[in-house]
Amino acid sequence: MPLSYSRRWPMRQLIAASSVILLVACAEKPTAADAQPLPVTPAAPVITTSAVSTDMPTIQPAQSFSEWQANFRVQALNAGVSPQVFDNAFAGVTPDMSVIKADRSQPEFSRPVWEYLDGALSPLRVRNGQRLLEQNAELLTRIEQRYGVDRQALVSVWGMESNFGSFQGNKSVIRSLATLAYEGRRPEFAQSQLIAALKIIQEGDITAEKMLGSWAGAMGQTQFIPTTYETHAVDFDGDGRRDIWNSSADALASTAHYLQSSGWKQGQPWGFEVQLPTGFDYALADGSVRKSVSEWQKLGVTLPAGAQAPTGTQELSATLLLPAGYRGPAFLVLDNFRAILRYNNSSSYALAVGLLSQRFNGGGTILGDWPKDDLPLSRSERIELQTLLTQRNYDAGNPDGIIGANTRKAIRSAQQAFGWPADGYPSHKLLERLRSQ
Ligand code: CA
Repeated sequence: MPLSYSRRWPMRQLIAASSVILLVACAEKPTAADAQPLPVTPAAPVITTSAVSTDMPTIQPAQSFSEWQANFRVQALNAGVSPQVFDNAFAGVTPDMSVIKADRSQPEFSRPVWEYLDGALSPLRVRNGQRLLEQNAELLTRIEQRYGVDRQALVSVWGMESNFGSFQGNKSVIRSLATLAYEGRRPEFAQSQLIAALKIIQEGDITAEKMLGSWAGAMGQTQFIPTTYETHAVDFDGDGRRDIWNSSADALASTAHYLQSSGWKQGQPWGFEVQLPTGFDYALADGSVRKSVSEWQKLGVTLPAGAQAPTGTQELSATLLLPAGYRGPAFLVLDNFRAILRYNNSSSYALAVGLLSQRFNGGGTILGDWPKDDLPLSRSERIELQTLLTQRNYDAGNPDGIIGANTRKAIRSAQQAFGWPADGYPSHKLLERLRSQ
């Protein structure tokens, strides 16, 4: 589940709501630089490799936790939470400092997208997914019939979110969200999640004690945040409870329901790898530029030698994705890629889900080479790049270390001024050129 600010995870559905994103508990989640809606960004899934900068402003709550709790109780009751549910859920709850620490950490180093994909698409995960596809064949058939979402994609998301249910996070969701609502960086968001969590308990789907998840409040095998749960979790095994923690049927069907709502097109590929001609205008590799596959072909975009053309995609709307800039592999991505981004707003994540779903059937191999000599910029280098761009009159927006649309636009302008391929990718070469100017 995604929640995100920078490295955080975009929550599945929230995304649309703001620039927020949720976090995920899962092991390998992309982060930082790539939390853009179709970011052709430096994907940099980050998984905090090491250093954590400490320049976050300290947030000092103006009230004690118990004062906050008393005020929030009024708000929750006004929203329809019963006093009994509230008081039971909050019995003995204190702020969790590990949650505050996680909320304020800003990973300095981003993992290169190719390393992220290596972890996400491990042979063990592929084998486990293949086994689960077989074991759950009958269930997956029923879910496909009901929601129109392909089984390989469901199992792929399941693998990415919780390693097929085995890494769901073991923190109390109420305690984590109460901590974030009290002194987190986005208290209003946390409060809305907390009210949704209390309502889930009130509805009888799970008890407060068993409602476990990530530090950011992503829950269960699908890593849904509470508001996503409220809108999309389903009871598919028919026991009367939407149990995304313990029921694979409920978790997979809830994922299918969410992907269906996000525009999933059954039977369509997520996208496919392509090759670009010499002299190609890399500025077209931007999430805002959509063309049909056949229009891209007219611009010289071809399939790699040895690749099979997905049938029936000619008129589909596609975006060109360069996860590591113009020197790395290129992909045309379609509606289903965009649906996966609604789950977790990171192009690296969506790429991993798409490729993993193909690996279950023996595909999903990338033919192009990654520019492994070109490691992602660190957070402080990204901030320096943004600062230098703005100083040179290429407005990169707020220097926050997040490579968003404004920064990519500024990078492209600088690249064009230097006569370089304008892929919008934040490279060391560009940083050095700007430093020397
Ligand atoms: Ca159930």
